[in-house]
Amino acid sequence: PEAITVQELANRMAEKGADLVKALFKMGVMVTVNQTIDQDTAELLVEEFGHNITLVSESDVDIDHSADVDAEETLQTRPPVVTIMGHVDHGKTSLLDALRGTDVVRGEAGGITQHIGAYQIKTKGGDLITFLDTPGHEAFTEMRMRGANVTDIVILVVAGDDGLMPQTIEAINHTKAAGVPMIVAITKADKPEYKSQKIRERLLEHEIVVEQMSGDVQDVEVSAKTGAGLDELIEKILLQAELLELRANPDRSAEATVVEAKLDKGKGPLATVLINRGTLKVGDIFVVGTQSGRVRAMHDDKGRQIKSAPPSLPVEVLGLGGVPMSGDTLTVVENEARAREVASYRQEQATAKRTTAAPASLENMFSALK
Ligand code: GDP
Ligand code: MG
Repeated sequence: PEAITVQELANRMAEKGADLVKALFKMGVMVTVNQTIDQDTAELLVEEFGHNITLVSESDVDIDHSADVDAEETLQTRPPVVTIMGHVDHGKTSLLDALRGTDVVRGEAGGITQHIGAYQIKTKGGDLITFLDTPGHEAFTEMRMRGANVTDIVILVVAGDDGLMPQTIEAINHTKAAGVPMIVAITKADKPEYKSQKIRERLLEHEIVVEQMSGDVQDVEVSAKTGAGLDELIEKILLQAELLELRANPDRSAEATVVEAKLDKGKGPLATVLINRGTLKVGDIFVVGTQSGRVRAMHDDKGRQIKSAPPSLPVEVLGLGGVPMSGDTLTVVENEARAREVASYRQEQATAKRTTAAPASLENMFSALK
């Protein structure tokens, strides 16, 4: 199933062809009902319409998650996963560093920071929060385009001595498109030129009505420099997380999303993954994208060895057969034969796609959205 016409997909989904064309247009793909779209685009579209994806012809060989929903009673509260977005130089990195500095565990352990693409803090109150350490809408959009919706909450950073800038607007649009709740952090509160009210008014033009303007989007004044407002920001993240009722089943084979991956000269392929559900353990056999592997070791963002990783914990995994792509799903399977079967099937599919299909419309969609 490399490509499908829009009409055929509409028939299968029992939707109107014209509605699909409209939705595709919004995604930046210009086609008529009689033209074909590739599988990735089709999958995105199916998701957009809230249908489940069942790739019938692949289900024998590949891993099909569509029927695999965890029972209500197995679900437990999991920490929120937060992404920070905003315009360049508005203070994303500074805020991420300042928030990392509030981690009580890091304080105790002496705090050797490992930059693995994500980190988790324990608040004074004992709550856990995971931050994706790759700020910017590109990482967010790329992951989303690859079907990975790992972000639960977006913090929109706006410098209070500046204003809404092009990347601020883009971040707003991406967040809205993803349907992810937003908390507005008006940063650089220590600066004399700071005018947070002006920012709140500007946000109205983008239909973001913050609490201070009697809306329901939480906003907070912060300074990464002095630490002012950080506690309040953390409180608001926890409040938002509570409203979202984030839950996952920790007692099952793990499923995780690749946040970052690279080839290390000494250690070989490394991937930072975020556990979506289940618990990833040392020794687990898995498939990730077109690669298979076995968890040789795991480290957290403090460089500590981890034996098992529960939902929402970011860990660096050693033991991959190759370097996966960010946004790929890591799935634990029962044995090595199964892992190899799925991985090699996916490799064949990927090769076939490269040689037969037109340039991936994923790229087009991506640039259209930028
Ligand atoms: P990014 O591009 O969004 O990651 O922004 P950075 O975190 O790199 O910050 C850009 C500049 O703003 C740097 O020079 C920071 O030192 C400065 N900055 C960031 N946050 C604050 C703040 O809260 N107060 C002050 N005074 N400067 C800040
Ligand atoms: Mg930065």
